[in-house]
Amino acid sequence: MNLATRTCLALGFLTIAFPGLASERPSKPQVTINVYNDAGVSEQVLAQAEQEATRIFRQAGVDNVWVECHVSKPALNPDSECQPPGGAAHLALRIVHWSSNLRDTIFGTAFLSAGGEGTQSDVFYDSVEKLHKDWHASLSRVLGHVMAHEIGHLLLGTNAHSPMGIMRPNWQSQELRSIGLGTLLFTSEQARSMQAKLFSLRARK
Ligand SMILES: [Zn+2]
Repeated sequence: MNLATRTCLALGFLTIAFPGLASERPSKPQVTINVYNDAGVSEQVLAQAEQEATRIFRQAGVDNVWVECHVSKPALNPDSECQPPGGAAHLALRIVHWSSNLRDTIFGTAFLSAGGEGTQSDVFYDSVEKLHKDWHASLSRVLGHVMAHEIGHLLLGTNAHSPMGIMRPNWQSQELRSIGLGTLLFTSEQARSMQAKLFSLRARK
C-alpha cells in the first residue's frame, strides 16, 4: 500500500462578500468558522480537533472562533450564528464521510475561485479515520490538522502548498510523527500572509 497520504486542493467557484467586522483592531486577526458535522463525528472528537486546529492557528498569530452548525444548508438555519460565510474572516468547513470521485488518500478539498478566493472547504472523515487507524495516530489530532490544512487553503489562496509544514501536499511518516509531537505548523511566511490578508480585510471596513 502506498502510505503516502495527501490532502488536496480542488478548484471550485464561490463568490465572496465581506462581512461586518469590528473597527477596532485586536491583537490577533480572527477567523470565524462554521462547522457542518455531516459525518456525525462525536462531539468529543470534534471539540478536541477544533482545539488542535486552534492551537495551530494561534501559533500562526490567528485566532479561531468555531460555530457548530447542524444542518447541511446554512441558509435554512434559523440560528443567526450560522449565517452563511463570507470573506476570509468567516469561513465554512464541512466534515463529510467521503467524496465518491476521489481516492482514499485525499483528505479534503478547498473550493477556490480562479482568483484564489473561497470560503468553503470539505474534510473527508473516512479518509481521516483510515489514516488514524493505519498510523495509530490520535483521531482528533489528525482531524484537527486536516481541518487546519484545508482552512489554510482558504486563507492562503492558490499555490498554498509548501515543502515544509502543515501545508505540505503529501503527508507521510515524518508528518505523522510531527502531528504526534504537535510540531506540524504553518511556516512563518504563511503566518504573515494569513495575518496580512485578515488585517487588510479589516482595513477595508
Ligand atoms: Zn492541500
